[in-house]
Amino acid sequence: MPLSPFLDVDIPVTFKDQPGVQSAVLYTHIPLCNLECFQCHNKAAFDGQGTFLSYEKLLEKLDKLKLLGVELIIVSGGEPLLEKRLIEGVEFIKIEGFSVRIDTNGTLPDKVEQLTGEKVADGFALDIKIPIKNEYYEEEIIRFNEILFSKKEKNRKNVKFYAEEIKKSVKKIKEFAIANDFQYTILRTVKYPFLTEKDIGEIKKFAKETGIPFQLNPFYPVEA
Ligand code: SF4
Repeated sequence: MPLSPFLDVDIPVTFKDQPGVQSAVLYTHIPLCNLECFQCHNKAAFDGQGTFLSYEKLLEKLDKLKLLGVELIIVSGGEPLLEKRLIEGVEFIKIEGFSVRIDTNGTLPDKVEQLTGEKVADGFALDIKIPIKNEYYEEEIIRFNEILFSKKEKNRKNVKFYAEEIKKSVKKIKEFAIANDFQYTILRTVKYPFLTEKDIGEIKKFAKETGIPFQLNPFYPVEA
């Protein structure tokens, strides 16, 4: 049987990720991401683990998750929207009777448009990592570069480009959420140490205006 786009690693089962819903998390290739967020937990935990589940083994795991009462499969990464085989993988999971949420960093609005338009998934979690504005002060550029591009080249253009792409993706995800009664779709922010209370307030205001549920998550440093 061919390989699925999901990694052969432990599958966490959680009630917290999608509040109140028994969910399990599958990961696409972790290094496949266009951001280098400050202390990325997934890259720290899974880097170097490149073995993919065969569809046969994925089916076995899904059968076990069903027995545990899991209703929703959350697809995380890396950035899942960069995975070329994502759609076939999601369709395979859905045929087995699960709902699917895709977690994205929101920087690929064309892919978001494709997936929302084709109704491939049942929901999306989109991370908003910094306040989304038209212009940024120099000191904000420095702080926000540290959040988004901790190990990459840092410049003003990157932060502004990020904000523009997030605006486009949020617009698409909002349309999708409205059409689907907001089920399984959320906006999220990690309280990175570089964010001020004012920043958090601006992010919350931006999220509230969309009408999409918003989750503010604590920042946990990566263990050395
Ligand atoms: S977008 Fe997600 S996977 Fe990519 S670097 Fe940031 S936290 Fe890590």
